Amino acid sequence: MAAVLQELKPLAELGMISPRSRARMIRSLRQQGIQDQQVLAAMERVPRHLFVAEALASRAYEPVSLPIGWGQTISQPMMVARMLASLMAANRPRRVLEIGTGSGYQTALLAALGLEVCSIERIEGLARAAQARLFALGFQRVQLRLGDGGQGWQEQAPFDAIIFTAAVPCALPPLFHQLRAGGTLLMPQELQGGQQRLKLFRWDGIEAMETDLGDCLFVPLRPGTVIQRDRQGA
Ligand code: SAH
Repeated sequence: MAAVLQELKPLAELGMISPRSRARMIRSLRQQGIQDQQVLAAMERVPRHLFVAEALASRAYEPVSLPIGWGQTISQPMMVARMLASLMAANRPRRVLEIGTGSGYQTALLAALGLEVCSIERIEGLARAAQARLFALGFQRVQLRLGDGGQGWQEQAPFDAIIFTAAVPCALPPLFHQLRAGGTLLMPQELQGGQQRLKLFRWDGIEAMETDLGDCLFVPLRPGTVIQRDRQGA
């Protein structure tokens, strides 16, 4: 992993946003129970403030989700850390499919963890901005696709893990067939009544074993593709 992390080009830090803010975020994640050293190291290295609008950059290391335009949000650091730690603990994946690239922050972290990453985003403006950031940071090997990720990415399957960053309605057929046996699917699931639970499924090739990881709050998974480049909202 160290080699992959070193691929990140050192970037000019923005104004007041120093690596110290990032170190503070890491301390707080550790205090809240995140123990996976690889996840913490990746989050210490990837500059989260470059994944939000400049006007919000000073808040990037606070324990909050932030708007990224088009009515979407970058998840709060603790949720990202929990998801990555659960994924890494489940089966030490090598190839992962992410559905909901958004800002590309979690995509960058997955790549920094040394995974081969395929990621799908349905909003063109977000997908393009994420691609530019990931390229500038040295993650050229990430494969991004503009489209509706609800169907997964059959041409790239099988994956060791699939991770949704938007809440999946119960009715959506799960993408187990795009996982290899022993693979993991991690997703916020929207239950009837609107409540969301973070669910981890271990797929053995025939059946899935479900673990409930608790309450969560994500933007909903939506069908179709939005071809619109101009940022709307913050
Ligand atoms: N992990 C992201 C969070 C993005 S929020 C980050 O670090 O920024 C969830 C994202 O899922 C949004 O960008 C939204 O546009 C996207 N999304 C919602 N439904 C989708 C679908 N069907 N296919 C692909 N992306 C989808």
